[in-house]
Amino acid sequence: NAKEEGRGRFALFQESMDATVQIRRRVERELREALASGVGLTVFFQPLFSVQQDAVSGVEALVRWQHPQRGLLSPATFIPIAEETGLIEPLGLWVLEHACAAAVGWPITTLAVNVSAVQLRNSKFPQQVLAILARTGFDAKRLELEVTETAIVKGAERSRAALDALRSAGIRIALDDFGTGYSSLSHLRDFAVDRVKIDRSFVTGLAQSPDRTAFVQAIVDLAQATGLKVTAEGVETAEQRATLSDIGCTDLQGYLLSRPLSRMDTDRLFASKALPDQSVA
Ligand code: C2E
Ligand code: MG
Ligand code: MG
Ligand code: MG
Repeated sequence: NAKEEGRGRFALFQESMDATVQIRRRVERELREALASGVGLTVFFQPLFSVQQDAVSGVEALVRWQHPQRGLLSPATFIPIAEETGLIEPLGLWVLEHACAAAVGWPITTLAVNVSAVQLRNSKFPQQVLAILARTGFDAKRLELEVTETAIVKGAERSRAALDALRSAGIRIALDDFGTGYSSLSHLRDFAVDRVKIDRSFVTGLAQSPDRTAFVQAIVDLAQATGLKVTAEGVETAEQRATLSDIGCTDLQGYLLSRPLSRMDTDRLFASKALPDQSVA
């Protein structure tokens, strides 16, 4: 009967809820262990290309977790849990320190590091960032922190105060995943940011719809008028690359240009670039 059926469904629901809670608890415990031991967490670096210079201008640090049983995990599988449990704070600082230490000798003008809304709300965050710069010897002017529009809007006063403190220390701020949240063009003018990153979903849709192209064009025009740089994320085809540079994007990032690289491969990339070409001359 219906009552029994309902009870059965509830039991199933309960079971899957329990499984979800268990997975979360396990991920939390394992992530805590990885942070404490320093084993398993790693950072990849995806090159950023300057359209004007036609060369690598920087890299974005992207965290990975080499899990003993489950292989190389993408941040999408553990960042949300890290945010819910507060582990994002030590994790975010670990990524920043690791990235600054790795990049200190690389010939780049920008090291971009993602910052969670949770980190931005902590009033100690700006000091923690400055302490890491001091320890690693990384120049504040080469650091760019990526935050989302939602983090600034929802974090209100406290987040804005943190951004102001970081910017007065010479650190640049980028608005990540633009187009996916509030997507308010007025935020480009009102928030104290240096760059806007157009989300991959808009780049993917470019060829399909004139609306999307018009939207991206509007972002770029306003950004230019406000003195912001514009990066297009997720550039996968030569056609997208051509359209985006025509529209006026200043920088490009995506698999077409380069996948995220391990630290060792990034070291190699810059070592070969830094050497004079011996084969010519
Ligand atoms: P994001 O900051 O927007 O980073 C760009 C993501 O797009 C990266 O995914 C990158 O690998 C991927 N990507 C780049 N080019 C292409 C492309 O051409 N095609 C496709 N399909 N994907 C491309 P990833 O590394 O999986 O990171 C996902 C998200 O996780 C990041 O998005 C960021 O929001 C978050 N994340 C990564 N590392 C950290 C971190 O250290 N701290 C925090 N708070 N979040 C992080
Ligand atoms: Mg990012
Ligand atoms: Mg992004
Ligand atoms: Mg994105």
